[in-house]
Amino acid sequence: MCHLTDRLNFCHFVRLSIPVLTGRHAGDRIYVTCSIILGKAMDVEQLKIDVDFMIQALKEAQAAAEEGEVPVGCVIVANDVKVKGKKVTSTGRIIARAHNLTETLRDPTAHAEMQAITSASSYMGGKYLDKCTLYVTVEPCPMCAAALNWSQIGRVVYGCADPKRGASMFSPTLYHPKTRVDGGVLDKECSKIMTDFFSRKRKR
Ligand SMILES: [Zn+2]
Repeated sequence: MCHLTDRLNFCHFVRLSIPVLTGRHAGDRIYVTCSIILGKAMDVEQLKIDVDFMIQALKEAQAAAEEGEVPVGCVIVANDVKVKGKKVTSTGRIIARAHNLTETLRDPTAHAEMQAITSASSYMGGKYLDKCTLYVTVEPCPMCAAALNWSQIGRVVYGCADPKRGASMFSPTLYHPKTRVDGGVLDKECSKIMTDFFSRKRKR
């Protein structure tokens, strides 16, 4: 838990309504408390935008689970920076969607992020993604963080942390020095889809 002074700079808690993706209550909206645990201070407008894109990444994770893949999903958004007075909001449109395909492709490198980097670069017509944001349900692994470094991506937003295999275990950072990294957007939802998947797998 952060100290109050840290929280002012590094943690934001906000209640948001999000749609239920699967099951009997699919389509209904539920309330979640969302926390941003890393990164610099940001405004609530940006957080709402982040939550919307993370929901899209969760839909990809859900598709992965339905295919028997470890449920990690992501989207890459081409940033569209709006300046209104002193307020800067980065919105954008999705240019790549992907989910984990390591089982389907029998390829240990077929992580969601790796595929999304390839398709976003092809869409942008260049190898740099400095004007893009990656939204991914689980913190990137060292391989993906290094690939994101090569792409010089502008921002990485992840859902739940991965204390065993996440890139933040490594110091100095594996990300590009210009990349801003924020974690904890819909972390509970992103983590639940993983724990549900593994508990179903153990029961089989
Ligand atoms: Zn990875």
